[in-house]
Parts: sequence; structure tokens; C-alpha cells
Amino acid sequence: MDLCEFEASLVYRMSSRTVRAPWKEERRRMSGLTFRSTKAHWTANLSRPCSHGPTGLFVPPSPPLDPEKIKELQRFITLSKKLLVMTGAGISTESGIPDYRSEKVGLYARTDRRPIQHIEFIRSAPVRQRYWARNFVGWPQFSSHQPNPAHWALSNWEKLGKLHWLVTQNVDALHSKAGNQRLTELHGCMHRVLCLSCGEQTPRRVLQERFQVLNPSWSAEAQGVAPDGDVFLTEEQVRSFQVPSCDRCGGPLKPDVVFFGDTVNPDKVDFVHRRVKEADSLLVVGSSLQVYSGYRFILTAREKKLPIAILNIGPTRSDDLACLKLDSRCGELLPLINPQ
Ligand SMILES: [Zn+2]
Repeated sequence: MDLCEFEASLVYRMSSRTVRAPWKEERRRMSGLTFRSTKAHWTANLSRPCSHGPTGLFVPPSPPLDPEKIKELQRFITLSKKLLVMTGAGISTESGIPDYRSEKVGLYARTDRRPIQHIEFIRSAPVRQRYWARNFVGWPQFSSHQPNPAHWALSNWEKLGKLHWLVTQNVDALHSKAGNQRLTELHGCMHRVLCLSCGEQTPRRVLQERFQVLNPSWSAEAQGVAPDGDVFLTEEQVRSFQVPSCDRCGGPLKPDVVFFGDTVNPDKVDFVHRRVKEADSLLVVGSSLQVYSGYRFILTAREKKLPIAILNIGPTRSDDLACLKLDSRCGELLPLINPQ
């Protein structure tokens, strides 16, 4: 059986059986983990039942692993000779990073009311000052997140020649920490800083040292810290925070990530389209595909009639295009798959 026949058999089986499942109804009723900023501090509403373990706080509930589905995914992977994998925030929740689909760079990029907008960051020095002050305080925790078994599995797939290319919508550097090199970070990476004037890229950790030198007596005492490291600071704290500029040209600095209202570099988009066209199958891991910058590659894959499998807890924008859909924890399922 080749991939096309496999896909056809799965589509038939999916359409011929009832897909209602009690846990899906349960999940729909759950409102999810939400954060809100009060005048004094961040508060977390942990009303949603959480998965076990300290890093499970941000993983939505999921049904037990289905042995049949595992076998189906195994066959999909075995039959794939040029597999393209696209990952989203859902793969990093098991590393302790909250899943905020609509905010490409997570809580880091948020003000206390709404996500930061690219144009505001570019135009306003006070906005940049507030952003960097919060980012400075949250950085030690954010940068300490480590790859989980799902990242390690994909790294292993690359080493064994199973992975044609990996595209991630995440900015947390967990794939590169796990050792993946055949990797495109679609929305950039928080671990790099970009000069808006001359384009020089520098490591984020170097900027942290410059912040410390410039703000030796600045009190980084946050009123409260959200689990991903984002913080609430008073206006007074923000106003006294000194933000360095580019060492080379004096221009303003920005994380090398795509903020709201910005677009992904067209060359990068073309590059990924080419990788998709070379692939013979596509696996989506931990993404609801709501953001167009990732969804467009699904459309390309579909045009090419590539079989698509999706591993994501909860519905996605492309469930109807997939030959295989799995609602499981990425870190539990992917290590079970033999890539050879
Ligand atoms: Zn510069």
C-alpha cells in the first residue's frame, strides 16, 4: 500500500463512522486557561482541569491513547519518504509554555490589555520601553524552557533521515535546542534580536547583559509573574528602565519575531512552499492552523494532493483535509513512533 491508498482507506473509514466522542463534548464545555491583568497583579484562572505534572498546566485534556490510531500514524510515517512536519504552540505546552494560538509570540508580546502590534512597536519609543522592561524581567524564566519528548522525537527523526523539513510557528527555540537543523522558524525566534535600522542580528542573551549594565539599580521586582514569565510592571517602573540601542548603528532593537500586523518574509514563505512541494506527506503537530501564515502551506499540500495527518488536541482549521487526525499529547505519542 502506498501513501495515496493509505490516505483513501483512512478517509473512507473516517467518513463511515460516527465521530462524536464524549470527551469532545467535555472539552467544548471547558473554558480554558485564561489570564487577566488586574490593577495589582496577574491572576491565573486555572478552572480547566489540568493534565498531570508541573509542565502539564497548559496541556488541554485529551482522551487516552488509542492503539489503533497509533498504528495508523505509524503506517503513515513508515510510508512517508519525504515527510514535512509543521509544528505550532501545542508542541511546547508540555514544556511549560502556554498555548496562545492567536498571539504568535505568546504572553511575551502582550501588553496588559492586548497583544503588541508591530506598527506600535516600530513607531513608539515608550511602547518599546514597556515591551523590553517586561521582556527583561520575564527572560530568565522564558529562556530556561527545555525541549520535551515530542521535540526530541522530531530531532531523532531528522538524524535518522526521516524528516525532509521541519517548519515551526513557535518562537521558543525548542526545536533548535533539541538539535534540529532542517528547520524553518516561520515567525522568527525570541532568542535573537534584530536592529530595525541596519538589520544586524544578535543573541538575546547578550542584550540581557546590556540591560543589566544599563539598569544596575533598577528594581525588577514584578508585582506578579505569569507562568511563562510575562509580568506586570507599574508605569513608574517602566519609565525608569533604560533600553539600549544597536551597538553598530544606534538603531532601535526588536526581537527577531513576527508581531501582530507584520508579515512573514516572502523569501522565507517561498522557501517553505518549495519544501512542501518536494515533500510526499505532511504531518501537523500541535497547531490548530488558525493563523494563515501556517495554514497556507496546508493549502499548498492539498493542491499537491499530499496526504495530511494532524496531531492536535482539539479541532483544527484543516480537519476536513486530513486523512488522519489524532487528539493526543504530542510528547506521549511521537516517541512511540518508529521513524525507520
Ligand atoms: Zn543597527
